Amino acid sequence: MDKKLSRQIAIITGASSGIGAGVAKSMAAEGAIVVINYPVPAAKDMAEQVLQEIKAEGGTGMTYACDVSKEDQVIKMFQDTIAMFGTVDILVNNAGLQRDAKFTEMTLEQWNFVLSVNLTGQFLCAREAIKEFLRRGVDPSKSKAAGKIICMSSVHEVIPWAGHANYAASKGGIMMMMKTIAQEYAPQKIRINSIAPGAIATPINHDAWDTSAHLQQLLKLIPEKRIGQVEDIGKAAVFLASDDADYVNGTTLFVDGGMTLYPGFEDNG
Ligand code: NAD
Repeated sequence: MDKKLSRQIAIITGASSGIGAGVAKSMAAEGAIVVINYPVPAAKDMAEQVLQEIKAEGGTGMTYACDVSKEDQVIKMFQDTIAMFGTVDILVNNAGLQRDAKFTEMTLEQWNFVLSVNLTGQFLCAREAIKEFLRRGVDPSKSKAAGKIICMSSVHEVIPWAGHANYAASKGGIMMMMKTIAQEYAPQKIRINSIAPGAIATPINHDAWDTSAHLQQLLKLIPEKRIGQVEDIGKAAVFLASDDADYVNGTTLFVDGGMTLYPGFEDNG
């Protein structure tokens, strides 16, 4: 059977760890050529390790250092990827981070830092991707779409999160940016969707599942009573990037074990 993403070039931001690494592996297993983006030289080894694991399974790609909040670096990442592989077919806007603080104690630096990576970074990468999708148009030998973007949002695009106003604002912003550009470019056969993960076991939320007590507390928020794995997100990303999702545009796919189902009401509220 044909692989779902054969020969498609996929840039995955923040792919040296966690969900990004998981998505890169899932997409490579479906035939995509993956660009494993990482932000700083210190993360190079981790990115190379992800690439080696992909190659060991018969996949291919390259690693690429770029801070997604820096316009010149993002433009160069797309130029270099196109020079190397000819085009870009898929962007997974995954890079993200937290700088938590009570709202009255949150510094402007904490606010700006989170917004610059989580939201401005997605804007910069999506803009360069869409320019390339418009230049190339549909290549029917690869996909029915001229290009696909998957924005990594969060359940916190709809669930308020005390102590994390910068993060929640960035994810709410992603939701409206995603919907707006999906509306703007659907006529050109570009599909743009989000994934909203619930709690997925990765470095970003290590403190929430590192001990049995923390995990039990976390599981109270998850009707399925299990923490998510990066493979859960990888499968969703492959679906959204593939022609199986050809009529899916401008929507958020919640992959959260039911976290957004108001679990506080499970037992009659
Ligand atoms: P993670 O910390 O493992 O991954 C984040 C990645 O982003 C890291 O690889 C990091 O190096 C990279 N990054 C940070 N700043 C960057 C920059 N300026 N340029 C490029 N890359 C940068 O955590 P994760 O859980 O895998 O997070 C991935 C995405 O999923 C984030 O957007 C996060 O908000 C989102 N998310 C995660 C969860 C979860 O439960 N793990 C839930 C909801 C949403």
